[in-house]
Amino acid sequence: MSISTSVLSDLLQSLPYLRPQLYFKASLTALSHAMEDQVLAATLDQPLIIASFQRERFYRQEAHRYQRLSQRSNQIYVLSAPETDFTNSSEYYEKVAFEQDDALTQEWHLVVIADNYATCLVCRESLGSIAKNRQIPDLLPSLEMDTGRRFEGIWTSERGVSIKAAQLLLDRILVYRPDLASKVEKARQRFGIGGNKAYYSNLITEYACDIDTDPFVQRLVTYLQASQYKLHKAYRSIAAQARKERLINSISTAIRRSLDPHEVLQIAAQELGQHLGASRCLIYRAQASEAQATIEHEFLTPGIVSIAGQTWELKQNPLFQAVVDHGEGVYVSDTMNDARVAKSPTLSSIVRKFAVRSWLIEPVLFQGRLLGIVELHYCTLPPHQWQQSELDLVKAIATQIGAALMQAEAYANLEELNQQLEALDRTRSNLIAITGHELRTPLSTIQVCLESLATEPDMPLELRQVMLNTALADSERMRKLVQDFLTLSNLESGRVEWHPESLTLQECVDLALSRIRARPTVEKPPAITAQIAQNLPLVRADGDWLVEVLAKLVDNACKFTPTQGQIIISADQNSNQMVEVAVIDTGRGIEPNLLEIVFDRFYQEEGALRRTAGGTGLGLAICRQIVNGWGGTIWAESNGKDQGSQFHFTIPIVQASKEESKSKVKSKK
Ligand code: ADP
Repeated sequence: MSISTSVLSDLLQSLPYLRPQLYFKASLTALSHAMEDQVLAATLDQPLIIASFQRERFYRQEAHRYQRLSQRSNQIYVLSAPETDFTNSSEYYEKVAFEQDDALTQEWHLVVIADNYATCLVCRESLGSIAKNRQIPDLLPSLEMDTGRRFEGIWTSERGVSIKAAQLLLDRILVYRPDLASKVEKARQRFGIGGNKAYYSNLITEYACDIDTDPFVQRLVTYLQASQYKLHKAYRSIAAQARKERLINSISTAIRRSLDPHEVLQIAAQELGQHLGASRCLIYRAQASEAQATIEHEFLTPGIVSIAGQTWELKQNPLFQAVVDHGEGVYVSDTMNDARVAKSPTLSSIVRKFAVRSWLIEPVLFQGRLLGIVELHYCTLPPHQWQQSELDLVKAIATQIGAALMQAEAYANLEELNQQLEALDRTRSNLIAITGHELRTPLSTIQVCLESLATEPDMPLELRQVMLNTALADSERMRKLVQDFLTLSNLESGRVEWHPESLTLQECVDLALSRIRARPTVEKPPAITAQIAQNLPLVRADGDWLVEVLAKLVDNACKFTPTQGQIIISADQNSNQMVEVAVIDTGRGIEPNLLEIVFDRFYQEEGALRRTAGGTGLGLAICRQIVNGWGGTIWAESNGKDQGSQFHFTIPIVQASKEESKSKVKSKK
C-alpha cells in the first residue's frame, strides 16, 4: 500500500514557481520548534497540525511536545514509519503509521494552519546526505552524524502553499487511515483545503507575508548559538586530540630512532610531564613481585624536589599493589583527602616528603607482564582534577613505553647472541691456529727426530738421546693440549661429576705446589710463598679441582714472571662468607682491557703462533668453569704491563651445620 511519490515533488509540481532551498538538520529543527511554539503559545485557535517524521525514533524525541500540543487542538496528525511500537491510533492525536518503503521515509513535513495563520515546512533529505550516513554509521557517534544531514525543500508562511501541502498530506493520511475520513473532512471544510490551482493562487496573493516571523528568528538565533558552542567545543577537542597525537608521535619517533631504553624513557618522561603540566613525571622499571625500585627517569618543573636515583617503596605501597592486582592505573585526586593515603604510613611519608598533592600510577605492561611504572605528581594547589582524556593519554604513552622496553630487550638479546657468535668465531679461528701450531709443530719435530734416528744409524749416542728427549717432550705437549681440551669441553657441557667435601686450604696449596715442583723445568721458577690466614674456616669444594685451579694459576705466574721475581699465594675470609684466594706475581702484568679477555678459551696475549711461554690458552678458561662450578667467582687484577698480575678466586666456606670432620684431600686423579 506504500506510496512512492514524494510530497515535495507533488507540491513543486502543483506550484511550479516555488524554489526549494537547502536546509541543514539543525535549521529544520529550529523552524519546526518555532512553528510548534506558536501553537503552544495559545495564540492560535484549534489549528490543523500535520507532522510527518521519517522514522519512529525521530518522532520519539518530540513525542512530549506533541502531547502538549494535543491540549491546543484536536486536529493533529502525526505520521511516521514504525520501528517498535508506533501504530495507527487515536489517543492524544491521530497517529498514522506509513510503510517502510513509502517516500515519506525520506521526508520531513510540518504544516500548521489556523484561521489567520499558516506555515509549512516540506522537505526531503538529500540523497548524498543519506548515502554518506549509511557509509559511516559506526565511525561517528550518531549526534555528529546527524548534524551533517541535509534537506532540500520549502519553508514558507504563504497560506496557499501551506494549504496545498496540507491537502497532499491529508490525502496520504486517508490512504493509511480511511477511518479518519470524516475528521479530515471537517478540517478540509474549516480551512478550505481541496480547492483547485486557481484557488491556491488566490490564497497566496491574499494571505502572503501577514505573519509574525519573530519567533522564527529567535529560534534560529538560539540554534545558531548552540551550534556555534558545539563547534567551539569540537575545535577544542580536535586541538587537544592533535596535541595528544603530536606527543605520542614524538615519543614513537624517539622509540623508532633509538634502541637505547634510557634515552627513550627520558624523552617519554620529559614530554609527558611537560604536556600534562605535571610537577613531576617518573618512569622506572618494576616487576610485580619486587619490593623496591630505583627511580631512573624524571621530569621536574623548577622548584620541585628531585627523586631521581632514590629507592622507591613498592611492596608497602598500596597504590602500587592495586596497580599490580588490577593491571591498570590508579589515581589520587587529593592526597590530603584520601583514605588509602591516610591509612598507609608509606604513602603518608612519601606525600609529606615530596609534597605530592595529586598522584597517578600507571603500569607499563607488555602482554600482561608488568615491566615498569609511569608516575605523575602534582605538588601545587588546587589539587589536580584528573580528566579521562589525560588518563587515556598516559595509558597510550605507557603502551608505547612497554613496546620500547621489549624492543630494547630483544635488541640486547640479539647483541648478546651476536657477541656469543663472535666469541664462537674467535674460538674457531683460534682452534684452527692452535691446532696448526700446537699439534703440527710438535708433530713435525717428532717426525724429524724419529726419521733421523731411523735413517742415521751412525748418529752419536748423545745426539740420539737429545733426539729422543725432544720427541718425548713434544709428544707430552700434544698430550697436554688434547687433555686440556677434553677437560674444558667436559666442564662446559656439564659432563663432570663433582665431589664436594670440606677442605683446609693449606693442604690444597701444599699439594698444588708439590705438583709444580715435581715438574721438570728449563728455568728456575721464582720464589713462591704462601700466606694463608690463620684460623681460616674449612672450604667446601671438590678437592681435585681446587688443586687443579691453584696449580694452573701458580703455573701461569711462574711462566710470566722472571726467575728473580716473586709469587705469593694468599687466602683470607671475605665479607661474603667466602674464602678469597689470590695468586700474586711480580711478572709481566696484563693490560687493563685484557683482564677479562684472558679467561676466553684459547686466548694468549701473543697469539698462538708467536707464543714463547708454552701452554694452550685453555688454562684460565678451565679455572673459570671450575670456580663457577662451586659457586665462586674468579677475576684478574693488574696495573698493566710489567706491573705484575693478581688472580683472585672465591670458595664457599663450610656452614656450621654442615661441617664435617676434616677430611683428607685426595691427591690429584
Ligand atoms: P696459557 O696456557 O697460554 O697460559 P691460560 O688460559 O692459562 O693459557 O692464560 C691465557 C693468557 O693469559 C696467557 O697466555 C697470558 O697471556 C695471560 N696470563 C695468564 N696468567 C698470567 C700472569 N700470571 N701474568 C701475565 N699474563 C698472564
